[in-house]
Order: sequence, then C-alpha cells, then structure tokens
Amino acid sequence: MITIEYNDEAFEYDAYALTRSFFPGEETAQRIMGADAEADSVRIFSDMEKRFVRLVIKAGAVFDHDMGWELSAAASTEREFKWKWKLFFYDCLSEYTGRILPWGALTGVRPIKLIGGIMAEQGREGLEEYLYDEYRVSRKKAELGIRISANENALLKPYEYKGHSLYIGIPFCPSRCLYCSFLSYDYTKMRKHVAEYLDCVEQELKAYAEIMNGERPSTVYIGGGTPTALDAAELDRLLSMACEYADAADTDEFTVEAGRPDSLDEEKFAVMKKHGVSRISVNPQTFKGETLKLIGRRHSVADVERAFEAARTAGFDNINMDLILGLPGEDVEDVKHTLDRVAALVPDSLTVHSLALKRSSKMTQWIAEHGAITGMDHEAAMGYALQTAEGLGMEPYYLYRQKNIAGALENTGFAVPGKYGIYNVLIMEEVQSIYAIGAGTVSKKVYTDGSGKIERCDTHKDLSLYLSDIQAMIERKRRLFGEDK
Ligand code: SF4
Repeated sequence: MITIEYNDEAFEYDAYALTRSFFPGEETAQRIMGADAEADSVRIFSDMEKRFVRLVIKAGAVFDHDMGWELSAAASTEREFKWKWKLFFYDCLSEYTGRILPWGALTGVRPIKLIGGIMAEQGREGLEEYLYDEYRVSRKKAELGIRISANENALLKPYEYKGHSLYIGIPFCPSRCLYCSFLSYDYTKMRKHVAEYLDCVEQELKAYAEIMNGERPSTVYIGGGTPTALDAAELDRLLSMACEYADAADTDEFTVEAGRPDSLDEEKFAVMKKHGVSRISVNPQTFKGETLKLIGRRHSVADVERAFEAARTAGFDNINMDLILGLPGEDVEDVKHTLDRVAALVPDSLTVHSLALKRSSKMTQWIAEHGAITGMDHEAAMGYALQTAEGLGMEPYYLYRQKNIAGALENTGFAVPGKYGIYNVLIMEEVQSIYAIGAGTVSKKVYTDGSGKIERCDTHKDLSLYLSDIQAMIERKRRLFGEDK
C-alpha cells in the first residue's frame, strides 16, 4: 500500500494518477499530511505562494530506499507552476523507478484533443520534440497521436460545431463481464421490465423530436449494455422507434452495438438490416476460450466466428470488433493469437482496448482474491495490434485513455478508410452535441459560438428510478437543449 500525503490538495489528482501509473497493482491511498510519515509514502509538501514543492519518498515494502527532491520556480504563475510540478513529479518517479511512461506526464483521457490544439496553434514542425519536452510523451506515442489527430480532423470537418448526434442506451446484457463498469442488468432476470423500459425510451424519443424541432441527427448510436440482448420483437420495436422519431436509417451512420456474440442470431441481423442499421460491433475481446469463461462472457470462440459470418451473410459491410489487451492470465502470445484470428475474419474496423481497472467492476474483487494481473508486455501487445490493423489496411482514427489503464497505454480505434465509427470520434473530441436517451446516459451540449463551452445532464443510473422519474429525465433535456440548441 502506498500512501500519498500532502499539505495542499492542489496536487491531489495528478499525484494519485501518476503514482498509480508508475506502481500499477499497488493499492494507493491519499491523506492530508500527519505528524509522522507512513512507510511507503509519497510526501508532498508545497508552498504555493513561494512556488516551492518538496517531494520525499519514504521506503517500506514497496519503495526500496528513501529519496527526496525539491522544486522552486518563484517567477511562474500558479497555473504554470502546477504544470512544472507535474512534470517534476513525473521525472522524480521516473528517476526512482527507472521507468518511462509512454504518454509521459499526460493523465487526461483525451490526449488527441490536446495534441490537435497544439498543432493548430503552432503547426506540425517539431511537434514530437515539443511533446517530449513539455509532457515527456514518447516519440512513438507522439507520432501516433499526430497521425490520429490528422485523421480525426478530416473526419470531423462536416460535423464541427454544428448539428447533433443521438445516443440510445439499452442497459441489459446476457451476463455481466468481469471488467464491466457500465450500466448493465441481467436481461433474463430483468426481462419483465423491458417493455416498460422501451415505453420510456419511446417517451424520450417523442420529446426529443419535439425539443430538437425534428432536426435529423448526424449519427445514431444504440449502445449500452447490449441492445441485441433484447429479443427480436423488442429489438424491432426499438429500431422502429429510432427510425420514426430520428430518421435513423437516413443518417450518416446508424450503429447498433451487437457486442455479445451470445446475443446474436439470424433473426436479429435481419431486423437490424430491415431498419437500415449501417454499422455493428461483434466483440470477441479475446480468442482464448479459457479467458472468455473467466471473464464471464458465456460464449465460445466459435460463437464469435459464427456471429461474424452470419452478420456478413446478412449483408453487413461495416463490422467492428472490440478487443481487450491485458486480460487476466493472458500474455503477448495470447494477444497475438487473438489478433491473428481477428485478421482471418477481416473486420472493417477494430477497437483495441488496454484493460482498465474500475472500482465498480467485479475485477477489483477478483484481483483482491487472485492478486494483480502481471506478465504482459503491454507495449509489445499494442505494437502487434497496430501491425495487424495496418496489415488489414486500417488507419488509427481515434484514441482515448482511461484511469488505471494497463501499461499506462491507450484505447485505439482503427478502420479501413470509409468504415470509421464517426460517433466514436464525435463523443471523444466534443465538437458536436450528443442527445442521450435511456438510463445512466449523459447528454452533452457543445456550444456553437466558439466559446468551447460544454454543458451536460445525466439520467438516473438506477433502472427503477429511471422508469419512475421519466418525466423529470425528459425535462432535464428540455432545459439543456430546449431554447438555444
Ligand atoms: S457486454 Fe459490455 S456492457 Fe455488457 S456486461 Fe459485458 S462489458 Fe458490460
């Protein structure tokens, strides 16, 4: 256990995020500095007025020797000083551990937004060097980030600061995956509530059409959960509503997250085809059967292949596959095996996630019982993923990071040109409003006046609260989008 002790909360978030990245798998706690330093503590004493910070590592079981550093930068503003401190903190931990992190001192979820902003301000020349000097971003990640930023720019042009997209969340799944932190109820157990849930979605959609004055969305994304956990008749009703109130079939992209192969059959593919769904996801996560059982997916490797082939037979020509690198018990060879099997299927896009540990997932409990997940060379696995995607003629086109992400790496979307998931980029780069319907969803209004202002409103995560409070959920969105959308 590492304890971070500080006298000033100004550094709390960054100190925690970077310490977790340098010491993955170690439990990390924070507290205001007491009289005595605990063993295995990172002590941060700061005086913001004097722009001074002292950092001391006190050894115990995790740290093997004491060490201390000081930073003084009297001339800087508070904002500049905080950034200098973050870089200083990164350099100290890097020196202490002998490790470098691929994204350096960057701890945010949207590094591409940052890179794009810098590129717009000061141009492409010398950007890799700048990203290293200012943020310690490795050359490899800087090059990847610059490449993705250019791809995103081209993709986002028609949508930037105009129009909106629509998201509909269906919070039911065939079973709960070990790593899941999304809103997901067991479909079989909750089946009696599904019709009522769809009634609420219909009320939301009716209100949406009215609030948005019938403006057609640029893209429609039905996610969750697993929308295809619904039976064929329920799915038919849901997609009919999306087409009736949002013209979903006539938008630039109509995606259904058909993620779980154990939720798919020919009848549901036919329903999706009938309603003009243009893009689906069939997600293996891994091609190692043992891991699928361990993570609670309740489907086999053969089911993934069957579902994928059935989707192709049904006429889907834009199929994404999601993978997770760093699952328990897997090493680089397992990841290579998965990627080789994926390549043999030739999907149109690939989303490669690095496993992120979320407190709300069952994985946290699993780790407490079985120990931290170790043994994976994350960079080598991610390198093979990039190579595989390029071999399939794909380009990286969006990227985001999460807290507690394996290898301090990233999640990357790859696609063959023309088969990008536009909604994924829109949600990440926050250049277009997202109207979100369903339990546990977040709507986002992006102001179009160039101010960069974004306002959000959410809906209840608890299903029964959402069902009983549906009018209030609608009113929240009326307030957000109603007058000046
Ligand atoms: S399929 Fe997705 S939403 Fe459903 S339990 Fe698994 S990770 Fe969660």
